[in-house]
Amino acid sequence: MTALEPLVERTSDFIRDSVIPVERDVIVHGRVVDDALRLDLQKKAKDAGVFGPLSDVRYGGLGLDTRAQARVLEAAGASLLGPLSVNGSAPDDGNIHLLAHAGTPEQKERYLAPLASGEIRSSIAMTEPAPGAGSDASLLRTRAERTGSGWVINGAKHFTTGADGAGFTICVAATADGPTMFLVDQDNPGLTVGRRMPTLDHSVPGGHCEVEFVDCEVTGDAVLGEVGLGMEYAQVRLAPSRLVFCMNWLGLAVRAHEMAARHINSRTAFGVPIAEHGMAQGLVADSEIDIAASRGLIRTAAEAIDTAGPSSSAARHHASIAKTFVSEAVWRILDRAVQLHGGLGVCEDHLVARFLVEARAFRIYEGPSEVLRWSIARRVLRAVR
Ligand SMILES: Cc1cc2nc3c(=O)[nH]c(=O)nc-3n(C[C@H](O)[C@H](O)[C@H](O)COP(=O)(O)OP(=O)(O)OC[C@H]3O[C@@H](n4cnc5c(N)ncnc54)[C@H](O)[C@@H]3O)c2cc1C
Repeated sequence: MTALEPLVERTSDFIRDSVIPVERDVIVHGRVVDDALRLDLQKKAKDAGVFGPLSDVRYGGLGLDTRAQARVLEAAGASLLGPLSVNGSAPDDGNIHLLAHAGTPEQKERYLAPLASGEIRSSIAMTEPAPGAGSDASLLRTRAERTGSGWVINGAKHFTTGADGAGFTICVAATADGPTMFLVDQDNPGLTVGRRMPTLDHSVPGGHCEVEFVDCEVTGDAVLGEVGLGMEYAQVRLAPSRLVFCMNWLGLAVRAHEMAARHINSRTAFGVPIAEHGMAQGLVADSEIDIAASRGLIRTAAEAIDTAGPSSSAARHHASIAKTFVSEAVWRILDRAVQLHGGLGVCEDHLVARFLVEARAFRIYEGPSEVLRWSIARRVLRAVR
């Protein structure tokens, strides 16, 4: 047994004993996922020794490489609230990674340390309402102009996950020297968190918000890393962040698959347990194949990140492949689990129905499947040209 195995086991035990009972409160009884709930779950994760799979030990994390993270975060993903409980969910996961890579020592002290410990949450504001940036980041309309002492930012964003109640937002803005990332404190009077957008999912603290920057003044040291390198930093963040989503959602899909298998073993139709009907077995086998293929693709991409670096072309290519496949496989697995549960599967107060609804957006954020297929194909075609 490697040192990793006891950690994976501890994570599974923690999710089963401390998180799944609370998840039932959220899904079945409508308990709101707020910061009080987050902090309570994160304290329990710390006590259980499973907190911080994405952070360095110097920030109180577990200091794992990406391959080890894949094992731990799949175990944490078994509950909708598991990744949040261990501080391994979006958008903080990507922001932890980004700050560790590009932050100055002062920025690490001020933003990374409290983020990694769970003291605060964060958000990242890239996507804009039309005609601004979405899949096409080159449409960025939010602008930052230099002033005597710093910068002033103006622009509108939407779908900024976790903005309501965050400690800070990483704002991506165009400058005369190219796209740049700014660390903006949430209490900056020029930053307004507007409406929480009424999305299908309900399990993220702080929702997905409209955010406005109106004459938002920041000092020179608010620039994350260097001016003009915003898109390079976005690349550093992207592959690890895509993979973390794959790990987390795969964990939930595995659980739904097991729930469906248990259900059809115990439910009878036409004189035998449903599990004895060949077509039901076909659904189970297809999900098992999707799970095995997803694990393999996540492992390949994790290895590319660990060996070639997060923004290497190998990491980007394999993370794009993994994200495209896993987001679609998770959808198929959850949909089969719904189907095998019969009417209960679509009952909103039942867990698998909610899993399916919560997972839908995974095929859109961090790159819609069509955009990822396009970029995968372009890399292949470039290579043979
Ligand atoms: C739940 C959720 C959370 C999010 N959180 C954040 C966040 O925290 N921060 C943030 O900045 N953004 C966030 N987003 C935004 C997300 O990153 C964008 O939705 C995504 O990048 C797509 O951009 P868009 O919505 O503007 O779609 P568009 O760019 O308008 O694209 C719409 C559709 O057109 C198709 N399409 C686009 N380009 C191509 C192409 N080249 N070939 C074929 N088809 C194409 C795709 O099907 C795509 O889904 C979040 C989104 C959701 C749903």
